[in-house]
Amino acid sequence: MISETLPSSIEEAPEEPQEPPSIKRTEWVRKNIFKVSKRKWNDWHWQLSHCITNLGNANNEIQLPSSVTPYYYSHFCNNKNNPIALTVIPSNKELDIMPDEKSDPLDEEKYSPVEGIIHKYPDRVLFLITNMCSVFCRYCCRSRCVGRKKDLTEKQIEEAINYIRVNKVIRDVLLSGGDCLTMETKQLESIIKRIRAIKHVEIIRIGTKVPVVLPQRITKELVNMLKKYAPLYININFIHPQEITKETEKACALLVENGIPLGSQTVLLKDVNDNVETMKKLMTGLVKIRVRPYYLYSMDKIAGGNHFAVPIRIGKSIIQSLQWAITGFAVPKFVIDSPIGKIPADPDYITELDDGLLLNNHHGGTTIY
Ligand SMILES: *Cc1c(COP(=O)(O)O)cnc(C)c1O
Repeated sequence: MISETLPSSIEEAPEEPQEPPSIKRTEWVRKNIFKVSKRKWNDWHWQLSHCITNLGNANNEIQLPSSVTPYYYSHFCNNKNNPIALTVIPSNKELDIMPDEKSDPLDEEKYSPVEGIIHKYPDRVLFLITNMCSVFCRYCCRSRCVGRKKDLTEKQIEEAINYIRVNKVIRDVLLSGGDCLTMETKQLESIIKRIRAIKHVEIIRIGTKVPVVLPQRITKELVNMLKKYAPLYININFIHPQEITKETEKACALLVENGIPLGSQTVLLKDVNDNVETMKKLMTGLVKIRVRPYYLYSMDKIAGGNHFAVPIRIGKSIIQSLQWAITGFAVPKFVIDSPIGKIPADPDYITELDDGLLLNNHHGGTTIY
């Protein structure tokens, strides 16, 4: 990753889009700001090696680590108020640490029997196979590791796989990180192959933001490798409808058409997506590109994350509105993640009465059942 000082021509970037940035705009940014050929721009290695790592630092007292791919950067350029920009540009607000915030709010380290494995739920494990990520999301629940901690050694990887091998209760392995799709295909395959060879492992899942921040990475070569290890599911981190671009749509289509079911995970973030209109656009946009909404997370209590926090009642009321307004399966499950697991935060639809039930819908409508 190299640090780039962006040319001043950035001031001239075209009007900020409210809709997903058009290919035309991305093209403008490629030609005028990064000044590279189409071939290079579409090469994921070029994108990864040209990540911008000094965003917003001029205004900060303390230099906070940051990273964003040129492609994702083209969504907002110099517009610091763009909702996506708010999630990747470091802010001095991160220095305000609340008493109840922690670097490891989910107690993941306590549930780690061997390096890289988090075994919290009975039948499934989280396997953090890399700390590398192309984009440092300011709200990330694993910012304590990303780009900071050393990657696992081959010996540690083998020990982690062995833990899965000897624990026969594990039927579901979730690969995450960092972002494991930033790894080389061969390196990733060497891990997936060993996991697939374990008889009791029924499904493999990958958690990633790559189709959103680095869609160039979803190559035929990668997909041909992944499809050999079915059933393999991919869950993608989406936070805003502006992320649903032609490029991301194409990446998702390639995955789905090769038998990889896609789901989404979204973090509820203040001033980014904490309203019904934005969530409606995001969730209906996702089902259009064949991504099934899965979880909406209340923001984890990570150190310095308070400026993104949204009250639980707002999340509940957004879900209640969506339940009425859009396709049932486009509504994600709203959860609070905690040291004792994911806790569903469902809206309060039902009040038990002595002689029946009082049902509430999204706009104050009630009926006795
Ligand atoms: C979220 C999570 C999982 C997966 O949970 P599902 O509800 O099955 O998607 C597994 N392990 C850990 C530690 C998690 O945080």
